[in-house]
Amino acid sequence: MNEYDSNRIADIAKENNFERTEDYSKIDCYILNTCHIREKASEKVYHDIGRLKKNYKNKKKPFVLITGCVAQAENDEMLRREPYIDAVVGPQSYHDIPKILSNLESKSKRKKFNLTEFDVIKKFDTLNKIVNPNSNISSFITIQEGCDKFCNFCVVPYTRGAEYSRSMKEIIEEAKNIISNGAREIILLGQNVNAYNFSNDNKKIRLSDLISELEKLKNLKRIRYTTSHPRDMTQDLINCHKKSKKLMPFLHLPIQSGSNKILENMNRKHSREEYLSIIDSLIKAKPNMKFSSDFIVGYPGESDKDFNETITLIKKVKFINSFSFIYNSRPGTPASNQKQIDEKTQKRRLILLQNILRDIQIQENSSKVGKFVNVLIENKMKNHSRYFGRSDNFTPVILSDVYEKDIGKVVTTKIQKYNRNTLFGIKEKKEREEAA
Ligand code: SF4
Repeated sequence: MNEYDSNRIADIAKENNFERTEDYSKIDCYILNTCHIREKASEKVYHDIGRLKKNYKNKKKPFVLITGCVAQAENDEMLRREPYIDAVVGPQSYHDIPKILSNLESKSKRKKFNLTEFDVIKKFDTLNKIVNPNSNISSFITIQEGCDKFCNFCVVPYTRGAEYSRSMKEIIEEAKNIISNGAREIILLGQNVNAYNFSNDNKKIRLSDLISELEKLKNLKRIRYTTSHPRDMTQDLINCHKKSKKLMPFLHLPIQSGSNKILENMNRKHSREEYLSIIDSLIKAKPNMKFSSDFIVGYPGESDKDFNETITLIKKVKFINSFSFIYNSRPGTPASNQKQIDEKTQKRRLILLQNILRDIQIQENSSKVGKFVNVLIENKMKNHSRYFGRSDNFTPVILSDVYEKDIGKVVTTKIQKYNRNTLFGIKEKKEREEAA
């Protein structure tokens, strides 16, 4: 989502005639878009600003704007601690960036800005007026923001605000634009993307309805959505996996822990059994469905038994890739007041868990050798004659015998080699002959 936000911030700043540059030596404006989900996020901001200050000693420019969730969480404190910062702009206030830039450019004496309101409607009203120029084969569209779930370890409900869904009309418009720019896959984004719920003339539009509408768009080949909450995996959405031809057979469905005790302690509002039953239903709906997840290791109160329950769950579902972290206490969250587990135990458990995830991933990739997978070719690799794409299950695939004209096409690929993260293949013989 931050990648999508950063692109949209760059689009908004064009209104003030600012353009992106790779040249760090002469910049007029420095916008640092931040994420607060991991530890030491604010320290990283101060560190970056420190480097910037060294490069631009005693100069009037660049203007320095800190955007995103760190700006939201730290706001005034950040302006106080680092006078070099001109503005802190929360994730729901990006639409005010042109005003800030105009103001900074017109004033000889710099004013400080703190824009950390949760004004999500105004933000999307502004963004809708600015055409999304993104032309990546696989492109993101934010359809939902914020979270009402309040997991005990998480800062998102405090930094992104309550759940908000964009209108289907706006989303379809944006989708049409990026498809005309060249996009062939759309990844629908949201903190709780499957909580998508927009009311139009008293008719509730859910994520499954939105996917069915997107499915009609010619030239769009693939649809994905992330990140989902198990509680919002409703039957209509599960059925959509069965019906839709463009919705890919892969789902990132975070569970965090396989222990009911820990799930309750995390306030996840679902049990291990409920999670497994969703996985079963999805496999019934789409037999080639694969999954990834997030795991927090060493959460307060996690015993060896609880940890082993996570391991048995991983082995049962066979997640093909996942994100796993040692629990990190975030100030202000309920879990931060609980007794923490010792670091040695946390590290030992993380290594064990990651080894199991790695073995499953390797097993999955090795099982593909000699088989055919459908790959959407996304781009030519930098400094390489090879091309990059992804399989239906979102696994990266590298091909050596495709051409520029294949970018944006779904190519049947015979897998020849693999490593932990990537498959390597060539086009099916028939396609190679046709291309020749
Ligand atoms: S559902 Fe996700 S975003 Fe919401 S509080 Fe829980 S972990 Fe955070």
